[in-house]
Amino acid sequence: MGKIHKILVANRGEIALRVMRSVREMGIRTVAVYSEADRQSLHVRFADEAVCIGPPPSSESYLRMDVIIEAAKKTGADAIHPGYGFLSENEDFARAVIAAGLIFIGPPPEAIEVMGSKLAAKNAAAKFNVPLVPGTSEPIDDIAKAKKLSREIGYPVLIKASAGGGGKGMRIVNKEEEFEEQMERAVSEATSAFGDGSVFIEKYVSRPRHIEFQIFGDQHGNVVHLFERECSIQRRHQKVVEEAPSAVLTPELREAMGQAAINVAKSCGYYNAGTVEFIFDESRKFYFLEMNTRLQVEHPVTEQITGLDLVQLQVRIAEGERIPFRQEDVRINGHAIEVRVYAEDPANNFLPDIGTLKTYRRPQGHGIRVDDGFEEGMSIPFYYDPMIAKMICHAETREAAIEKMIRAIDDYQITGAETTLGFCRFVMQHEAFRSGNFDTKFVEQYFQPAVLLATAAHEDEDILAAALAVKAFAAAGHSAQTSQEAPSTSVSRWKTQRK
Ligand code: ADP
Ligand code: ADP
Ligand code: MG
Repeated sequence: MGKIHKILVANRGEIALRVMRSVREMGIRTVAVYSEADRQSLHVRFADEAVCIGPPPSSESYLRMDVIIEAAKKTGADAIHPGYGFLSENEDFARAVIAAGLIFIGPPPEAIEVMGSKLAAKNAAAKFNVPLVPGTSEPIDDIAKAKKLSREIGYPVLIKASAGGGGKGMRIVNKEEEFEEQMERAVSEATSAFGDGSVFIEKYVSRPRHIEFQIFGDQHGNVVHLFERECSIQRRHQKVVEEAPSAVLTPELREAMGQAAINVAKSCGYYNAGTVEFIFDESRKFYFLEMNTRLQVEHPVTEQITGLDLVQLQVRIAEGERIPFRQEDVRINGHAIEVRVYAEDPANNFLPDIGTLKTYRRPQGHGIRVDDGFEEGMSIPFYYDPMIAKMICHAETREAAIEKMIRAIDDYQITGAETTLGFCRFVMQHEAFRSGNFDTKFVEQYFQPAVLLATAAHEDEDILAAALAVKAFAAAGHSAQTSQEAPSTSVSRWKTQRK
């Protein structure tokens, strides 16, 4: 351990930029890596140095551990920050980084390994008395036994990939007759997306909220939590709108869940930034879902309400420093909401709709933060996650944050691709969201694409061309390269997720 002087960021897009900005403020030099598709990207231009690591497909660039570590050595970097997605939750990568004599800015490889398996994670957490969703504690290998268990748990149940992530590899089984079919689908989805077909069963909680806790540990055994994020507005089991704090937690519940999150971290000897995810049911009981062993996409809402820079904190902890505050020193200041601006068409089942950003103007003003990796005129590469930006609004109250978000959405000008902005505006104006009385079924229950179709009727030729290209790519039989692949690349996934 010791002072870090130069950091290689093994990622792209908004998160690579976001990490580099904070790192530069610390007087640390930055190295970008990029694929041939990202030559002109902002993260490449921002970095002090940049190294091309291969062709556009992630499997040939952003997932190449050897090439990335070589780039770090060649440029004299002493640490690697993995961002989210790609190699961030790959324990072999963390191990290889350490073996190369570099600092991995993240948790210990052993913790990544345990928490990377949802089953191993649940078993570890159970020993620390963390409440779990009822389900199997081992992978299913015997259908008859699994059916018997499901009957005991009570339908509907969820078949889940132990190695799953990004909302993939999950199947709801409503009744026993569907069990075999859904099981087969879950296993084949898990095998193709994660290279690991292990699945297990969980009780399907019918109307849960998704509430997660940000935790931080240092290498001296201290763990704190930085409150919760409410992430119940999801499509395809993946978040689109997040906020902190949650509108439904009382101080008592916050304390109990925060303590449970700390216990999960302690169950695997965790340090650095991590997120403990829970589902929260109608009777206000909470259950541990999984732990994400990295910085989360939605971490900025936590930064806004706590005033902390989580990336800088990650770097300090990787250097061996202690957490510079105590649990009782962290306070919630106001309310923050994030919307994810994806190049997707909400009116068309949220399918990716990449193109060239003909117009791209960010909103401005007090309390508005936009984390992105694009400029006007840039194309959204079709190989990676179709997220254009994250927009975060911070205000004194939840109501004021909602009003600010509506104003910011109206000021955000994007043409050249359909985006989730209109959908997010719909959410901000919806009575269920405004009252705080909503759950993960929000989109299914309330969202009718027709609402947006009326306002979004400009299918221009660029978009059409992009859509056709995606179709052609899919028809040629390409599919996701590996599990850490950004989601949109997996054209097959969009096909399988389409109802
Ligand atoms: P969050 O940070 O809230 O979990 P997402 O679910 O969108 O946000 O995941 C963030 C990124 O990490 C996405 O690019 C997603 O594809 C990727 N990701 C997360 N976990 C996995 C996993 N186990 N396998 C593949 N990709 C993953
Ligand atoms: P991932 O690794 O893909 O993020 P999670 O286990 O975190 O997988 O689940 C993703 C989402 O799926 C949750 O936020 C929640 O909306 C839904 N979900 C997961 N498990 C359950 C469950 N047992 N009952 C109901 N919904 C669930
Ligand atoms: Mg999750």
